[in-house]
Amino acid sequence: MKLQMKIRRISAWQVDLPLREGSYKWSGGKSVTVFDSTIVGVQTDDGVMGYGEVCPLGSSYLPSYSKGVRAGIAELGPHLLGENPLQLGYLNRRMDAVFKGHPYVKSGIDIACWDILGQVTRQPVCVLLGGRYGEDFGLYRAISQESPDAMAKRVAEYRREGYRRFQLKVGGDPEEDVDRIRAVSAELKRGDRLVADANTGWLLHDAMRVVREVRDVDVYIEQPCLTYEECLSIRRQTNHPFILDETIDSVDVLLRAKADLAMDVVNIKISKFGGLTKARQVRDLCVSMGIAMTIEDTWGGDITTAAIAHLAHSTPPEFLFTTTDFNSYVSLSTADGAPRRINGRMAASTQPGLGIKPKTELLGKPALTIE
Ligand code: MG
Repeated sequence: MKLQMKIRRISAWQVDLPLREGSYKWSGGKSVTVFDSTIVGVQTDDGVMGYGEVCPLGSSYLPSYSKGVRAGIAELGPHLLGENPLQLGYLNRRMDAVFKGHPYVKSGIDIACWDILGQVTRQPVCVLLGGRYGEDFGLYRAISQESPDAMAKRVAEYRREGYRRFQLKVGGDPEEDVDRIRAVSAELKRGDRLVADANTGWLLHDAMRVVREVRDVDVYIEQPCLTYEECLSIRRQTNHPFILDETIDSVDVLLRAKADLAMDVVNIKISKFGGLTKARQVRDLCVSMGIAMTIEDTWGGDITTAAIAHLAHSTPPEFLFTTTDFNSYVSLSTADGAPRRINGRMAASTQPGLGIKPKTELLGKPALTIE
């Protein structure tokens, strides 16, 4: 087994991922109809090829955007040629030293290097990330912001497909959001879980009124307001289980939030932290500190879904609040071997690495090659 390999080439392919439902809408009238995703390939000097994927949720969700992924890789990539892709801690230190910030730019490269490490060691990435817990794990379905009735109908449909966890996109008109939560809640059965995710969309007074109005409903409240302090204020005045997402983007803020008991669940998105190496660090910290997690990414297709599955499957089940199968939301499959939902559940591949094989004829020419 050769362990002294070098990065010889980094490629990036642009791929459009249309949404099966036609669009995805969330707080403040934001929406996406076609995702602009970047598939990243890292090739070693002896021909091993690893893949990753980065797909921002449009340009207004986090401080990230699709063209930024590719522009960032063009800037960062040349510094990584000749480095050993198997030394992931070292490689991440190197990326941070030559290119400050922009974690999402680094995410696809880091994931591709985990894929290489898995292929070289003949182990699935989930085993390298800590171990494979059980046969499979449960999924949630994100419900695009529509009228209360339309959202209730969607939830009933997805419930029939096997999902038991639902994340409603609220953060709109507060009165209508209360109706959304109530209409959907009426569709649920014992054991189902409901999350109302405002995606920073409520002002403090709106958030206060909504949580008071749905006091009697079994619903988790996710990221009601823009800032950490605003969310903490709502958290301290409601008895709903509470999730933080957008504001938890570093170890520093996670430790502060733990000290403040600011949430019951943290949403870990791989690209928000800069790849599997750093998402795993945050995941392991959450396990050590007793915090449950939603494990996912900002969006993506088959390769993102494979990476999520490996991180989720290597998380102790009692800490895995939920995760999702983004490849089922989009109408284009970009890789063979990606995990597929079965009755609302999914499992990571048992093959070495991520266990995926990109459809190279579909990807065509890379948008960018660094060698
Ligand atoms: Mg969220």
